[in-house]
Amino acid sequence: MSAVVVGHKNPDTDSIVSAIAAADLMSKRGVPSQPFCQGKIPPDTAFVLGSFGFPAPELLGPLAGKKVILVDHSDRGQAPEDLDQAELLGIFDHHKLGDITTSTPLFFWAQPVGCSCTVIKGVYDYYGVEIPRNIAGLMLCAILSDTLIFRSPTTTDEDRKAAKELARLAGVADYEALGMEMFVVKSAVTGVPARELLFRDYKDFTMNGQKVGVSQLEVVDIKLLDGVRADLRQAMTEAKAEGRHTIMLLLTDIMKEGSELLVLSDDANLAEKVFGAAATDTTYSSGNKNKGVWLPGVMSRKKDVVPKLEAVFK
Ligand code: MG
Ligand code: MG
Ligand code: MG
Repeated sequence: MSAVVVGHKNPDTDSIVSAIAAADLMSKRGVPSQPFCQGKIPPDTAFVLGSFGFPAPELLGPLAGKKVILVDHSDRGQAPEDLDQAELLGIFDHHKLGDITTSTPLFFWAQPVGCSCTVIKGVYDYYGVEIPRNIAGLMLCAILSDTLIFRSPTTTDEDRKAAKELARLAGVADYEALGMEMFVVKSAVTGVPARELLFRDYKDFTMNGQKVGVSQLEVVDIKLLDGVRADLRQAMTEAKAEGRHTIMLLLTDIMKEGSELLVLSDDANLAEKVFGAAATDTTYSSGNKNKGVWLPGVMSRKKDVVPKLEAVFK
């Protein structure tokens, strides 16, 4: 029976592609493995899979009695609900250490880099395993996606180096152009239900016993979101009423290199506590009551938002 390789809930390109790459690597290392996903494939990921002729991984089923490898997360909140009924073989990740524990020894490949695929590329190299051309193309796109084409503060030299080598393996000449194509697909939000947009790239955290949700939409031009802001506000109100202390939405403009922050919280001063005076700037919102505040340089949930939020909740 193959081991199951799976990324986090509300999957992104890195979670899907890391599952595919890790399953290939593990299979070639003598552990037959198969990639799965924990939810709907987002449009930009579908574009990436299509570009390199790869089928979408199947939706994950029950884990009882199976062997599992996790990618792109190590916390229970992001993992399959029945993870405890499986044997966890190992983890490939690039996030802060989560709260998953095991009763058997495991491998754990983790690095503070911009993308899980950068970690997996390093493990392919470590074992001298060749990366197939189409998987190299997928991994390149995952790095471009997670690092916002190297603009995110999470980007490291290792990510740039890995992307360059993967582009060569995949035969992609202009990979920044490929990244822009992918983000243009990701930016097409018209006609998509607001709740789906809100939960597309969404993570719930437990902070000092409170449920705190942080969502992010990454687009090539924030003006593309003008038509959906009011509906997003409404979706946030509904999501908050489902038992959350706080719900934050980052509308990230990858070209302007900053994010508009929308926040609903039981703590009316939360945004100011987290982001300081910048979060009270009302000049940005004049004329549109649904607009939030513009935070220059805020690009990464992982680096710019979650640590500061946790510090406030402590
Ligand atoms: Mg991810
Ligand atoms: Mg990732
Ligand atoms: Mg992301």
